[in-house]
Amino acid sequence: MRSQDYDRLFLSPPHLGRHELNYVHKAIEDNWVAPAGPNLAGFEADICQAAGVGHCVALSSGTAAIHLGLLLLGVGPGDEVLCPSFTFVATANPIVYCGATPIFVDSEADTWNMCPQRLREALDDRIAQGKKPRALLLVHLYGMPARLPELLALAAEYELPVLEDAAEALGSRLNGQPLGGFGTVGVFSFNGNKILTTSSGGALVTNDAALAGKARFLATQAKDDAPYYQHSELGYNYRLSNILAGIGRGQMELLEERVKRRREIFAWYQEHLAGLSGLRVALAPELPGSRSNRWLTTILLNPAETAATPETVRQHLETRNIESRPLWKPLHLQPLFRAAPMYGGAVCTDLFSRGLCLPSGTAMTDADLRRVAEAVREAL
Ligand SMILES: *Cc1c(COP(=O)(O)O)cnc(C)c1O
Repeated sequence: MRSQDYDRLFLSPPHLGRHELNYVHKAIEDNWVAPAGPNLAGFEADICQAAGVGHCVALSSGTAAIHLGLLLLGVGPGDEVLCPSFTFVATANPIVYCGATPIFVDSEADTWNMCPQRLREALDDRIAQGKKPRALLLVHLYGMPARLPELLALAAEYELPVLEDAAEALGSRLNGQPLGGFGTVGVFSFNGNKILTTSSGGALVTNDAALAGKARFLATQAKDDAPYYQHSELGYNYRLSNILAGIGRGQMELLEERVKRRREIFAWYQEHLAGLSGLRVALAPELPGSRSNRWLTTILLNPAETAATPETVRQHLETRNIESRPLWKPLHLQPLFRAAPMYGGAVCTDLFSRGLCLPSGTAMTDADLRRVAEAVREAL
């Protein structure tokens, strides 16, 4: 870190526990630096248990996991994949890696995730235009469970396989069941800003043993079963290293603790920013049965009640050496995706214009939280 970073409050920095180094140490001592080793198998078993799924393949990033997930669902050149507009670009980029086209769908106001009604419109319209989408990609943004009962019912009705991008939602649940295990394939990210991190990493989960085997095969250069290097299919180098998996094993021990702290931070902001005119801490409340990991706490400003905008608040926090970020800019507004079809758009465009993410890292103290709340109050 640079010296001016010393008292900077970051949005969601890595938060290591006490045991990561033991696992990394052991890997180096045992010379399990390559290839796949015991940390990798252990990390995958930990993820299976936490996500309540049968199989896990640890990969170099969440983006790589989404890419492989789409390939497993049969997405290829010329296909269309339904995807929320309101998400990080890494959700949709792999659709393009496959030579397919994203079909963007608006959010609904309660969860900020894909709107089931808009999804039906999109499906009917694509089919009327002569092409049924190949797959449905769902996201649980900021850790909040999407409206899975309605969305999965639509997927079943239209016979679409589902890829669940749970990159931000490790530890979130719906009716007691962990997110990531609802789709045909699920994806987690262990990037540096996520609730748990391996510095960089991801995982693909599924209950289908054949799909897991195929993912492992594709992630390691698609080597045929032969004594020499023979390849019949296009492969990738997407496997996570045994060293980074060691960090992951130490981190997985902390999942429940980290979710608890993120939820406390959300509740703290909600309590201490209450009563500020023109601002509310979002998204609250959770729908019945939903339990969000509250990965990032976000605020929404109401322009009818305050002259402050997300950008004026962000700039003011910056003068106090506090990092904040606008909500994800919807993908249908991105120059990269200007040609992609979009169904609806008013909901996520409005959220983007009014929202800001606040520092939510689990290592924050109550004094840090007070510093942020004070700066937000000043900005309003
Ligand atoms: C972080 C993230 C990803 C990508 O994960 P990486 O590990 O950074 O490649 C994908 N989707 C969403 C919603 C994310 O937040």
